[in-house]
Amino acid sequence: MNITKPSIFDFTQKELMELIKPSFRAKQIFGWIYHQYAQSFEDMKNIPKTLKEELSQKFVVNPLTIVNKEESRDGTIKYLLQMQDGKTMEAVWLKMKEELIDEDGKVFQEAKYTICVSTQVGCKVGCTFCLTAKGGFTRNLTAGEIVAQVVTLKRDNNHNHNRKINIVYMGMGEPLDNLDNLAKAIEIFKEEEGLCIGAKRQTVSTSGLSNKIDKLGEMDLGVHIAISLHAVDDELRSELIPMNKAHNISSIIEAVKRFPIDTRKRVMFEYLVIKNKNDDIASAKKLVKLLADIKAKVNLIYFNPYPGTTYDRPLKADMVTFQEYLINHGLLCTIRDSKGIDISAACGQLKEKVEGEI
Ligand code: SAH
Ligand code: SF4
Repeated sequence: MNITKPSIFDFTQKELMELIKPSFRAKQIFGWIYHQYAQSFEDMKNIPKTLKEELSQKFVVNPLTIVNKEESRDGTIKYLLQMQDGKTMEAVWLKMKEELIDEDGKVFQEAKYTICVSTQVGCKVGCTFCLTAKGGFTRNLTAGEIVAQVVTLKRDNNHNHNRKINIVYMGMGEPLDNLDNLAKAIEIFKEEEGLCIGAKRQTVSTSGLSNKIDKLGEMDLGVHIAISLHAVDDELRSELIPMNKAHNISSIIEAVKRFPIDTRKRVMFEYLVIKNKNDDIASAKKLVKLLADIKAKVNLIYFNPYPGTTYDRPLKADMVTFQEYLINHGLLCTIRDSKGIDISAACGQLKEKVEGEI
């Protein structure tokens, strides 16, 4: 049987300073895990042996191990990570911008990366298009397991601690269904002597639990939100996202209007496009109307098929027509390039391939 211990990544620096005395040792340990990416107490050279032994009885450093890794031609790397209890989940390393090199061969702009993290093993929301939903819900991730995904991926890619990185909570699970641990992870990421990833670099994607959108807003953490809208009428949305019956489209729109948003920023609405379901111009028209009073931008996502699904990937021409309609009617709209399309791109697909759960 696995014995699970709390991870050092579960704590803010202040908490660690209360747990570990003398408190300057906690600061040193913080540096070891977030700046040197130390994987064990043993690696922490300036920490006394007795303290290291004491700590390793109570805590683990990193609760995650990499069990599988798939690298795509476009630089996307998908990780399958195992936790102390043997459960697994995914995190994805996304290359957003290529490195730029001048004529002398010098790098004048470093490549830019985003990490997509999971917040749960499985998911309760049960979206009919989502592979993660198929296995049901297993458990929430701890704050430390969320934080450790970023540290593990930065370490594996030799990404120095002070290089900027963006985080999207778009991996497995519904972040707002694990709000306390999510909020804690957001705070730990922000720690100035830790990874120092500001709230503006963090985006929480939600399937639209409207009451929790309000709660997140009240916490005033400063993060961005992305709403997985996917449909413009409640009938289709309830087919795609069953819990839409409890949190319908208008309740989501109202909650978004109440959410504290940086006035220079826009709320992202994700719209998963499924062939012959929601890829028609009538839907585009309704979408324009629905978002009329919101500073919004729309991100169109190609449905990514997997064995056993009844839905189809939309045609590129239909995606472009849909996008053009939105742009011509004053909405900002991008099409998400299907990063890692040659690997197991959509959430849940690597886990499924490796473990063959269903
Ligand atoms: N639960 C949250 C965040 C995780 S899902 C949410 O739903 O927003 C992350 C994204 O993956 C969502 O936008 C979802 O629509 C998308 N997704 C799920 N299954 C997909 C598939 N088969 N093809 C393309 N995108 C998919
Ligand atoms: Fe859960 Fe998001 Fe998948 Fe829906 S799309 S089942 S909310 S992870």
